[in-house]
Amino acid sequence: MSKRDFYSRQTILKDVGPSGQIKLENTKAVIVGAGGLGHPVGQYLAAAGVGEITILDFDLIEESNMNRQVCFNKTEVGRPKARVLKEKLSGQNPYIKILSRLEKIDANNVVDILKEADIIFDCCDNFKTKFLLHDTAFFLKKDLVQASLYQYEGQVQVFNYSKENTKGCLRCLWPKVPKANCTGTCQEAGLIGAVAGSLGTLQAMAGIKLILGLGSSLQNTTTTVDLLSFETNKIRWNQAPRCPLCSEHASIKEIQDKNYEERESFELDEIPAKEFTLIDIREFEELEKEVSVPSLHRPLSEYKNWVNLLDKDENYLFVCSKGIRSSKLVKELMTQEFKNCYSLRKGLGGLEEFRSKS
Ligand SMILES: [Zn+2]
Repeated sequence: MSKRDFYSRQTILKDVGPSGQIKLENTKAVIVGAGGLGHPVGQYLAAAGVGEITILDFDLIEESNMNRQVCFNKTEVGRPKARVLKEKLSGQNPYIKILSRLEKIDANNVVDILKEADIIFDCCDNFKTKFLLHDTAFFLKKDLVQASLYQYEGQVQVFNYSKENTKGCLRCLWPKVPKANCTGTCQEAGLIGAVAGSLGTLQAMAGIKLILGLGSSLQNTTTTVDLLSFETNKIRWNQAPRCPLCSEHASIKEIQDKNYEERESFELDEIPAKEFTLIDIREFEELEKEVSVPSLHRPLSEYKNWVNLLDKDENYLFVCSKGIRSSKLVKELMTQEFKNCYSLRKGLGGLEEFRSKS
């Protein structure tokens, strides 16, 4: 069999042709995560003839992966996922180059991992990595295709950053990295493999479309798929005027660890200049030890005496020394219909540290 035969069913498509095949061959793709999404993405990129595919994953194969990570089998339990997937894809298509990296991606190595890529496939299962990949793709002007799963649903997002004048980014929708437990990993939420397979296949197709310039642009669009009703939805969004990454008011100028810490939506890093009533919930004996900020003092131990005097529509920012008690308190107040309560994430201690660092 020849290479020409291998791709003949796609090169006869008018919009692909031999020139499209060359575009695929000249593309370097990075797949982050050799899990339920990474398998179909890898299989279809390899099948299409994407010239160089790097698979990144530091995890080892476990038996509980088998229901969705369909390239693995039982005899491979304990082996590195990225290496085994590389072997499988190399067997599938001998005409392309496949690499594996057994690394955990973080703010220090992400640029090195992505700098040679033309297109990045985010097949990971946590927000921290998702945002890290996204922001790096944004700074390096690389195309990015994301997918995520939750039980019987999933979504795909495309960011065409290699193209000049791309407006809007993930942080227009989510300015901060959400807390991990706000959706749950598939270990906690459960997943049928075919859901990962469906979304991973869409993700691969979205990437192939980008490489070949086929179809409509999906920039600033979230495509959601419900595998129980088979309903799909396209949600379009605009660039956020105060986006922390892509607007003229951007506060994120480079890849730094602190931008990838997961947080609750009610946690703030700093005390905003106005619009909040600041309430210090530390006890009397703590007051002299740490920085003092103009605020109302309402010790947590006397909570029952003062909570009924608060206004449920007012904006409150609660502070303590480390942000643990204030976070707990805000969670409690939210169950009592308080609408606008916030907590200073690392407390007053963290604030001083935060200021001296930056
Ligand atoms: Zn943005």
